[in-house]
Amino acid sequence: MTLSRLASLALILLPVTAHAQILGFTPAHATRESQIEEKLKSIPTPDEERRQHRIFTAEPHVAGSKRNNELAEYIRDEWKKQGLEDVIIREYDVYGTNPKSASLEMLAPVRYQAVLREAPLPGDDDSANPAISGAWSGMSISGEVTAPVVYAHSGNPEDYDLLRKSGISVKGKIVLVRYSNPYSYRGFKALTAQREGAAAMLVYSDPQEDGYKKGRVDPDGPWGPEYHIQRGAITYDFMVPGDPTTPGWASVPGAKHIPIEQAISAPKIMAMPLSWHDAKPLLENMDGPVAPKDWQGALGFTYHLGGEQEKVHLKIEMDNGIQPYYVVEGRIRGSELPDEWVVMGNHRDAWVFGGVDPSSGTASMMELTRSLGELKKQGMRPRRTLVICSWDGEEIGLTGSTEWGEQFADELRSKAVAYINVDEATSGPNFHGQAVASLAPMLVETSRTLQDPSGKSLYDAWKATAAREKEEGTQSSQMNDSGVNDGQLADTRIGSGSDHTVFLNFVGMPVIGLQFDGDYGVYHSAYDDFYWMNHFGDPGYKYHTLMSQLWGVTALRLANADLLPFDFASYASNVRQFVDELATANEKNMWGQPPSAVQPGEDRQPRLDLKPVLDAIDAFESAGKRLNESLTRKLTAGPIDPKLAATVNHGMMQVERNWLNPVGIPGRPWFKHILYGARFTYAHLELPGLTEAVEAKDWPIAKQQAEILRRALEKNTKLLIELNNAAK
Ligand SMILES: [Zn+2]
Repeated sequence: MTLSRLASLALILLPVTAHAQILGFTPAHATRESQIEEKLKSIPTPDEERRQHRIFTAEPHVAGSKRNNELAEYIRDEWKKQGLEDVIIREYDVYGTNPKSASLEMLAPVRYQAVLREAPLPGDDDSANPAISGAWSGMSISGEVTAPVVYAHSGNPEDYDLLRKSGISVKGKIVLVRYSNPYSYRGFKALTAQREGAAAMLVYSDPQEDGYKKGRVDPDGPWGPEYHIQRGAITYDFMVPGDPTTPGWASVPGAKHIPIEQAISAPKIMAMPLSWHDAKPLLENMDGPVAPKDWQGALGFTYHLGGEQEKVHLKIEMDNGIQPYYVVEGRIRGSELPDEWVVMGNHRDAWVFGGVDPSSGTASMMELTRSLGELKKQGMRPRRTLVICSWDGEEIGLTGSTEWGEQFADELRSKAVAYINVDEATSGPNFHGQAVASLAPMLVETSRTLQDPSGKSLYDAWKATAAREKEEGTQSSQMNDSGVNDGQLADTRIGSGSDHTVFLNFVGMPVIGLQFDGDYGVYHSAYDDFYWMNHFGDPGYKYHTLMSQLWGVTALRLANADLLPFDFASYASNVRQFVDELATANEKNMWGQPPSAVQPGEDRQPRLDLKPVLDAIDAFESAGKRLNESLTRKLTAGPIDPKLAATVNHGMMQVERNWLNPVGIPGRPWFKHILYGARFTYAHLELPGLTEAVEAKDWPIAKQQAEILRRALEKNTKLLIELNNAAK
């Protein structure tokens, strides 16, 4: 081949091979970004992930404990060594919860003293650690009661309706409920029991849900054994998360606290979790009617509703009160745009050892920060600032992140690009990526550049997982029959239950959540530990390593992009889907009469007209499409004028803030986002204010909420048009 022929080939090939394409980057910067990402991906190792994981899982470290506070200092010291900047431990004096003592005894018809502890497992030395707590529920009140026990299935309102129909009252009695059938947050079970007038709630793990009915149990398999106790808080953080005594403001030292009696998120009922070992004698000795078929469990006898002959004595002593929680904060200051922040976080506190929850995430975070520190030392400082936090008290009421988010809400609203949360990094190989819809396309694109331990790209592995779950019927409802396409891969239905909540629902920041999962029956028990991770969850620490890489690449794309990779057309089509689903689910209520009842020539009049909202969504979508086109053109053409980039980026950061209604959703003023919310069960709830009003058939409020939504869409459409005019 002649030299000139080679040269012309190179000219043709160069743009394709040398210039990577990444959403939000000019071709030249995309090439540079790919090099930085390759470097980052090469740093985390399975051995280091395992070493860090062992440090965090060596001892129990519940929120407020000495060990958890020592781990805060450990993280601070490591981050300083790794090269993070402005590393600081922030103190919040919050209303905390600690167990003092508890006993449970059945007095009649037979005597049984509950164990309330987990038995050591052969081969798992940690499970014999004397520092392991007994059975306790965070935020239970103290008290003592002797009363009959009623089996109330999952403890949801409809379960009590059924009990009432069977002539069984739970007033002054102890209710025994089970976890997760269908899944509902234990705090909602506690609130429901409190509203029903029960004296106490016991919540147990039926082997049907997470034990031998599912498969082999620990130490021979990943499922929960006879003695495993799912601890957990019952805080009503679906009303307002964080410290119950500082709703809406930060518990910095010296802050004002309201009395606990006035705190709406503080439970007023005793509660305790049980292993099935301890629940079995209670269930076995119940009298009363036979429980319905779908209330039966896997314990091998017929479950009854109880309520009469069985007498149980329950005593719980708690030590609840103000105590310090500690958030560790560090950053790598941006080289060009230090006042634009990409925020990341993981909680540190665990119910016991936290093998999966959260120490797998904490280990991944420590390898990520080491990698980022290494890049910085090699001259690869991100353009924007990376802020990274180790949260405290997530398990109690999303406490540390909420207080921190409330403290810095104003600064975050002006500076934050997005928040990336990793709670549990891995309990198995199945990837689940969550994102607000504007960031879903960039998350899918990012997954293409990572290698899954199976040998596939993470993108292909993700697709396979989504397809499998679709087949099993466990997928989110947004995957339709025509397969799992890219637009449906990321889960855009974001409820509560982890540290992203304050950033999305209170501050108005776009959020991303990353997690690998699998068969996992030891959640919140003492068996969620190093042994479990090394035998079942992630024996080679490959998924921990992949999480560090994925988390890092996602953060760097947001930190280094020329134009932030938001896709508002994608956002619009998501919101349209939410509205369509709301209309379909409430079709009967929203229209006064069925179509057949309408006289010929007469118009069918809806009780709530969603047409103005749908029109506003259409306008937002076309503005989003036009902006996508203009920005793509700008990026392809090469270097972006910094002034234009600042205008466009700050404008795009404002879009998420504009979804906030300052007065909040009806009845829950802390929750300000009008697109995303959570039900009391923690389940995702789209268009929360509007949906709850429609479901309650409160048409004046529904109309008001629809108008708030329409106006927010209009405001964001106007904003996108302005940005497009600037960028054209
Ligand atoms: Zn967690």
